[in-house]
Amino acid sequence: MARYAMVIDTRKCSGCQSCTVACRVNNELPIDMIYNPVTTHGPIGKFPHVRMVHLPLLCMHCGNSPCVDACPTGASQQREDGIVWVEESKCVGCKTCIMVCPYGARVTNAKKGTVQKCNFCKDERVDQGKVPWCVQTCHQKARVFGDIEDKDSEVYRLVNTTKTTGRLLEELDTEPFVYYLY
Ligand code: SF4
Ligand code: SF4
Repeated sequence: MARYAMVIDTRKCSGCQSCTVACRVNNELPIDMIYNPVTTHGPIGKFPHVRMVHLPLLCMHCGNSPCVDACPTGASQQREDGIVWVEESKCVGCKTCIMVCPYGARVTNAKKGTVQKCNFCKDERVDQGKVPWCVQTCHQKARVFGDIEDKDSEVYRLVNTTKTTGRLLEELDTEPFVYYLY
């Protein structure tokens, strides 16, 4: 069984937000909802070697996912391949998952009264053998998606051969499966 992960190379990301737009369009999100914002920080470094850092954010598809544990109806679920998703018909909009997610990855759909989030485009892309829209769209090739259990995969190679690899809020033991290269 695969274990899906995403690697984001912050050295390649230009902050163009094409991924954000591709996600919103293809997931038909209302104007007030975003699954994968790109934040910008800096400048970092010492003059003249300074740069801005762009940090794309999304659901981390945590190995220890507090949102799944906390959901009172079973709407928040995790597949065997690691993808965390929300079954809309079971979501009562209580927002418990929003409160326990340390990454701010979940948003409320005000019209539907349900909570939604990135699911790695599981139905339209991953289950059809394709990469998520944000990966497909990134012209900088800053995003890589794949099976991190597969030693021949690009995500495995990048995580295991790049010295400067990190995950967000690792100290919380949520075991995020989005890795950042910096
Ligand atoms: Fe960065 Fe690629 Fe997203 Fe542009 S599309 S913001 S380069 S990750
Ligand atoms: Fe759940 Fe948040 Fe982790 Fe995604 S990032 S799996 S929503 S706790």
